[in-house]
Amino acid sequence: MRQRTLLSQAHLHLHEAAQRLGLDFEKVSYLCIPEETMQVRVTIALDNGAQKSFVGWRCRYDSGRGPTKGGVRFHPQSSLDEVETLAFWMTFKCALLDLPYGGGKGAIRVDPAKLSRTELERLSREYMKRLFEFVGPERDIIAPDINTNATVMGWMTDEYSRIAGRPSPAVATGKPLDMGGSQGREDATGRGGFYLLRRLEKDLGVGPGSRVAVQGFGNVGQHMALLLQEAGYKIVAVSDSRGATRNAGGLDMRALAAHKNSGNPIAAFSGGTPFDADDLVEEDCDVLVPAALECTVTGDNAAHVRARVIVELANGPLTNGADSILNAKGVTILPDILANAGGVTVSWFEWEQNRANEKWALEDIHEKLRQRMEDRGVAVFELAREKKVSCRSAAYMLALRTLLKK
Ligand code: NAD
Repeated sequence: MRQRTLLSQAHLHLHEAAQRLGLDFEKVSYLCIPEETMQVRVTIALDNGAQKSFVGWRCRYDSGRGPTKGGVRFHPQSSLDEVETLAFWMTFKCALLDLPYGGGKGAIRVDPAKLSRTELERLSREYMKRLFEFVGPERDIIAPDINTNATVMGWMTDEYSRIAGRPSPAVATGKPLDMGGSQGREDATGRGGFYLLRRLEKDLGVGPGSRVAVQGFGNVGQHMALLLQEAGYKIVAVSDSRGATRNAGGLDMRALAAHKNSGNPIAAFSGGTPFDADDLVEEDCDVLVPAALECTVTGDNAAHVRARVIVELANGPLTNGADSILNAKGVTILPDILANAGGVTVSWFEWEQNRANEKWALEDIHEKLRQRMEDRGVAVFELAREKKVSCRSAAYMLALRTLLKK
């Protein structure tokens, strides 16, 4: 019974926020139903001439605050439930960051490692063809997520523009720079999490010298780890879907990123000792950064977490059971709808640049991102202190207030 489970678990945070704000649940119950979701069959010709079909989705969860906005994921375990839950989280994230967007999300159930580059391009273009009426620069704007990147956004934008008969760069963010992409989008999610942690580090009792374990070493995990290491944090363990490596004296992030990005397994990195990736969340460290998939910290392993601070760069890495256990243990959790909001914030900058036909300097983008992450981080942290609730509860309370204001 996985269907709907993730979404109904996510709704519990809405229920709790409504209760804490003294709201009649009837007033917010509409937020338990996605506004619209489209399921599509995406059929492509493989390189050998055979046809293959994949299932895909796109959800516009709530457009009350503006066009819906959210990534597109390629993953063999993607499901309708996952897409709608990710779109629900995007709704609250955009409201918390006070961006003029509602939440959206999309996915294709596919293992991209099994397709050639030309097959992936056909898949990306066909997905956009099927969704042409559903998305749009003022309706629903796509972005990269797991296993998608600037190249995929470029293909999808090109396909949309071709069908529309005019250049439409604002239908997607996270595009290549020469197709209207923005400076600073590539590392925005990791960088946003970095700015947030640095702003709150004194309150959290961590800082340069603190030991960090990073789960997931893709776009988000790599950028966060590199920035933290440059700031003097010690990255003691890193995992990805194929393995993990640790070094109590600190792993060299540049060398590890170069090693992994040349196609080598993390476990074979000469600067660390391999261990089982499933054990990463239990690593002896001060800060745990989940940057992989949903539900990797569960009721089964939460009690063994040794970190004092968790920075949720992945969406939904903790189950509700894990969240309760860790709150009871006194672990401070910077929740996903705050901690990983740097990506959508710089996506908003990209969209604004496309609409105004402008190009902003990298330093300006970093500064605007830093200010927004720090401002919202402090607001969440202070409300949590004042109301004696977790940062997650405070984040949902602030987001819900904004959503109801419209
Ligand atoms: P990515 O595809 O670039 O990287 C994902 C990484 O997770 C890979 O290294 C993969 O090997 C690893 N992984 C997968 N399963 C794992 C497991 N069981 N244990 C350890 N590692 C595992 O994706 P990304 O863009 O870095 O996204 C990571 C997370 O951040 C996702 O939850 C995504 O929704 C979230 N996020 C991404 C962005 C963005 O801008 N890309 C924005 C906000 C949130």
